[in-house]
Amino acid sequence: RLYRGLATEATSSRMPPYAKIVRNLETVRRVLGSERSLTLAEKILYAHLGNVEESLLTGTNNGRDIRGKANLKLKPDRVAMQDASAQMALLQFMSCGLPSTAVPASIHCDHMIVGERGADTDLPASIQGNAEVFDFLESAAKRYGIEFWPPGAGIIHQSVLENYAAPGLMMLGTDSHTPNAGGLGAIAIGVGGADAVDALVDAPWELKAPKILGVRLEGQLSGWASPKDIILHLAGRLTVRGGTGFVIEYHGPGVETLSCTGMATCCNMGAEVGATTSLFPFSPSMVPYLEATHRGHVAKAAAEIAASGPGNLLRADDKAEYDQLITINLCELEPHINGPFTPDLSVPLSKFADTVREKKWPETFGAGLIGSCTNSSYEDMTRAEDLVKQASAAGLKPKADFFITPGSEQIRATLDRDQTLNTFSEAGGVVLANACGPCIGQWKRTDGVPKDVDNAIFTSYNRNFPGRNDGNRKTMNFLASPELVTALAYSGSTTFNPMIDTLSTPSGETFKFQAPKGSDLPSAGFEEGNPKFLPSAAVPDPSQEVIVSPTSDRLALLEPFAPFPNGDLTNLKVLYKVKGQCTTDTISAAGPWLKYKGHLPNISANTLIGAVNAATGETNVAYDENGKQHSIPELAEQWKQRGIEWLVIAEDNYGEGSAREHAALQPRYLGGRVIVSKSFARIHETNLKKQGVVPLTFANREDYDRIDACDVVDTVGLYDVLQAGGEGKVQLRVTKKKTGESFLIPVQHTLSKDQSAFILAGSALNLLAKKVTA
Ligand code: SF4
Repeated sequence: RLYRGLATEATSSRMPPYAKIVRNLETVRRVLGSERSLTLAEKILYAHLGNVEESLLTGTNNGRDIRGKANLKLKPDRVAMQDASAQMALLQFMSCGLPSTAVPASIHCDHMIVGERGADTDLPASIQGNAEVFDFLESAAKRYGIEFWPPGAGIIHQSVLENYAAPGLMMLGTDSHTPNAGGLGAIAIGVGGADAVDALVDAPWELKAPKILGVRLEGQLSGWASPKDIILHLAGRLTVRGGTGFVIEYHGPGVETLSCTGMATCCNMGAEVGATTSLFPFSPSMVPYLEATHRGHVAKAAAEIAASGPGNLLRADDKAEYDQLITINLCELEPHINGPFTPDLSVPLSKFADTVREKKWPETFGAGLIGSCTNSSYEDMTRAEDLVKQASAAGLKPKADFFITPGSEQIRATLDRDQTLNTFSEAGGVVLANACGPCIGQWKRTDGVPKDVDNAIFTSYNRNFPGRNDGNRKTMNFLASPELVTALAYSGSTTFNPMIDTLSTPSGETFKFQAPKGSDLPSAGFEEGNPKFLPSAAVPDPSQEVIVSPTSDRLALLEPFAPFPNGDLTNLKVLYKVKGQCTTDTISAAGPWLKYKGHLPNISANTLIGAVNAATGETNVAYDENGKQHSIPELAEQWKQRGIEWLVIAEDNYGEGSAREHAALQPRYLGGRVIVSKSFARIHETNLKKQGVVPLTFANREDYDRIDACDVVDTVGLYDVLQAGGEGKVQLRVTKKKTGESFLIPVQHTLSKDQSAFILAGSALNLLAKKVTA
């Protein structure tokens, strides 16, 4: 493929560093002993360790008990970022002072494009509305040598699959559906921006070694069943939490019957069961897909490794053991529909009509939407096209609105050439921009559905929580394969089963769909499409100015946080005592605040606004020393202005939910130094340390009851612990605001040597910046 503005064959940065990965796997084998069988996920992960011995032997019963125990320090091969999360990732990267990224990286402008009337009008409007963010991302990409995929080029995961994913690669992406690349045999993990920065600056990225959930596929799909139905069915079996802490590793004879893009769909939605990632072993369908997407050289190298013997990098060892094993017989799998409001409420198509009636879900629906990063492959679209052609030949038109979102310019241009889009348009379908659009709430729905009335839509997307698509919490989004969504759109009825039910044609005849047929890959190859959507060159240009307007309310350069003082923290004040659950969404709400993701001062005005006051039961109501009422961010800001540093007291699993780094950055920006809780969510605890906030847990849980808002707290021993690289004990001296009484309570910490250094420096980025300038 050609880079925009630089007619160079883009081959080198898209070839995984196979020689290094294979050599590292040999080291892993030597350390663990030749008797130890490895799963595929273990091979790829462990072959990306910065220090094999340290990670695999420390605290793991001499390498016998790694999964769920070892702390892996990984060196990913590549990073991909979408436009919303890239902003903070890049602002953090910039503050390190490096001239270029340490690994190849890409930015994809996809989340901020609205879907309404079609690509031709929607795209220019969205570009205009977000110009300052896109200009910033493009200028930073040019400066640091990051490939920039402009608005309209495609959705991050589709572009990654078409250009960067490869068997045996390990990559991070600042988006939860990054595991889509597992369809091409990569370990691809969704992370927050601060984690992406680790990889961009060549610092080790830490991950608790995941357990491995094996999914054995037997038999072959047929008729209406599609790869989407594998993951819809699996989501029903595992539930939204069933994959937490696991990598889902597909294997078995059924794998070889699936298309590469079908496997990507399965991996994409592994995020819906909480899995760290999902992946498939090297399979024959990967070779023609890589060749068709201009990466014959990668196909050749991967095929050679796959043929290099039974213990090779790209397959699990014969005796590999899984922590859990699920078997699915593809011959028996029927289409599934999942929802509403949760992706794990899975109903087989044959039972769906009865379920609709029993649960009193709407019996009609307003829109069918196909495509997105989950399901916009050539196979998906040509199977949907086949159904549209059948219906059109019978004189039928969709009864529900019908929208099509191509995942990339490559797929759009190819479908355009092959008349697939024309078939959709002639049937009344609306082709939206190559972007996320309705999948991420960027859908200006025009069919007049009231906000307070139950209504249904069908999509081939991956998520369906309330309000996800059109901002209407009453809209029930049922997830299904694109072919099922298409067929259902012709009936407009949620109880229609196209496998057995019939429709009436305008001439009064009975029409029944035949099972859809499509092609994995276009026989005439993929089209390049509009050259303006090709990425910029990955060549750093130090003369390029990064464009951030000083008057912008959406972007602000980051100021480094101050280093830790030369002694313990004194006179911290309790800003808030949180009652009950406190997720990253409680700490840094999404929705309209997403607009400010690149502007730390502005987004900090949402800090902790979802938190419940333990003393009063009120949400987002804090009281200062004089009893005056404020919102939490208001009080934090006032204290910041007065030079008062503060802490938060919380209950269990503080910071659960997404890996959102804003939930750690914002408290730090507003003067938060310590969070004391009954327990922490692991990722958030790490994020806090990276931003220089000290997470401590009560040694005695009942001490939570002894501290209140506005009490004064000093740390005792913390400075010594930090100096000693995490060794030693910490206490808190609490002085009650009301009585002046003072007492000590013991607290626990999980500070490692590296993390102690982050905190002393003020943040992990400060430490990195120091190393860069040293
Ligand atoms: Fe996320 Fe939807 Fe965009 Fe995919 S299409 S990256 S799921 S917002």
